[in-house]
Amino acid sequence: SGNLLEVRDLQVSFRTYVGEIQSVRGVTFSVKKGEVLAIVGESGCGKSVTAQTIMRLNPSPPSVIKYGSILFEGKDGVVDITKMSDKQMESIRGAEMGMIFQDPMTALNPTMTIGKQITEGLLKHQGLSKNEANKQAVEMLKLVGISNPEGRMDQYPHELSGGMRQRVMIAMALSCRPKLLIADEPTTALDVTIQAQIIELMKSLQEKTGASIILITHDLGVVAEMAERVAVMYAGMVVEQGTVDEIFYNSQHPYTWGLHRSVPRLDSNSSEELVPIPGTPPDLFAPPKGCPFAARCPYAMSICTEEMPEQFTVSGEHSAACWLLHPDAPKVERPAIAGG
Ligand code: SF4
Ligand code: MG
Repeated sequence: SGNLLEVRDLQVSFRTYVGEIQSVRGVTFSVKKGEVLAIVGESGCGKSVTAQTIMRLNPSPPSVIKYGSILFEGKDGVVDITKMSDKQMESIRGAEMGMIFQDPMTALNPTMTIGKQITEGLLKHQGLSKNEANKQAVEMLKLVGISNPEGRMDQYPHELSGGMRQRVMIAMALSCRPKLLIADEPTTALDVTIQAQIIELMKSLQEKTGASIILITHDLGVVAEMAERVAVMYAGMVVEQGTVDEIFYNSQHPYTWGLHRSVPRLDSNSSEELVPIPGTPPDLFAPPKGCPFAARCPYAMSICTEEMPEQFTVSGEHSAACWLLHPDAPKVERPAIAGG
């Protein structure tokens, strides 16, 4: 089908002692082979939980997959990640899917040398000899632009700068040549110059390896730099998705409009004024029955609080869940959006 990953109607909740948080509420999207899909949205919108669920990393408190499927084309054909045993996931994670996090220290073991950490995966998943694994680890460090890679092999994470650690984590995630790389806010903790370098690096590695990337970010500048398609998440749902051009120049959902005006962009000039979206996202212990954005939306109509909007097709793969796209809805003027 050309798709490496298909997430269908995924629902994930967290059970806490005060109730159940519905973090992911029916998310559907696909990732094509060799493409970069960005998932954008404010913190708490469910983007990280979606990513962790694809990797079957169990955040705490423990999350529960309530419904849906995650079809992944692995080396043994298409599997449903939601149905894999922990043991089966161990051979997929690290080998066929890699993940990089905002904070490299989440992924790096502070008590192990860089060399040992990179070769560990190679020894486990690829059956290389120690010598071959060492050679390949040095190659990976070179590939991610680390100078004196042989010397770095014997160093510990704390001996490296933040940017270097991020490069090491990318080397680790890519060392087994996974088909899918999930990058959760990979540059957020870095200063602007290093951010640009890491984005350049990820772009060039993506081109070299042909891996697909799910890029999770709140930074639309990073999206513009790297992604081909974008899924916009709000309150545990995908409210709009389309190509980068569609989301930047022809977005249809009022939340996407707000996002364009409210979030800082790596590539924007400083004279653009940021306008925060008033209000807060809904309580996911008891989500509203209608549109989750209704309480903050300047265009809300009576149907919006009554009924969940359907996904309306705008064109091709561009869709948005907003009643304004209903043929009988009043026509509203799409606001002028900086950069879009
Ligand atoms: Fe606003 Fe209604 Fe569209 Fe929701 S469905 S974004 S409340 S206009
Ligand atoms: Mg997050």
